[in-house]
Amino acid sequence: MSSAPISHPDAMRLVVELARVYVACDDCGHSRLLYRSNLRKVNEIGVANYMQLCRKIRCGECPKRPLMQRNLTIIPTWIERGEAQTA
Ligand SMILES: [Zn+2]
Repeated sequence: MSSAPISHPDAMRLVVELARVYVACDDCGHSRLLYRSNLRKVNEIGVANYMQLCRKIRCGECPKRPLMQRNLTIIPTWIERGEAQTA
């Protein structure tokens, strides 16, 4: 069975709705957090929604590899409704 690499209910939500994103590499154990300042930058280069963001994210420590061969754990934290939109 072939399925889309990302089948996430929040796939179409906007990058600007994210408070932060936790990214862990299951290959080397490297992990990092993307903050709103990082997310704004990727938004500026044309990454609009969460699905596109997931395709863009890769491990900074491992060599570049095709999307399907990445072993990343990506955990988004969405901005709560009513949370202040302070920069
Ligand atoms: Zn890695």
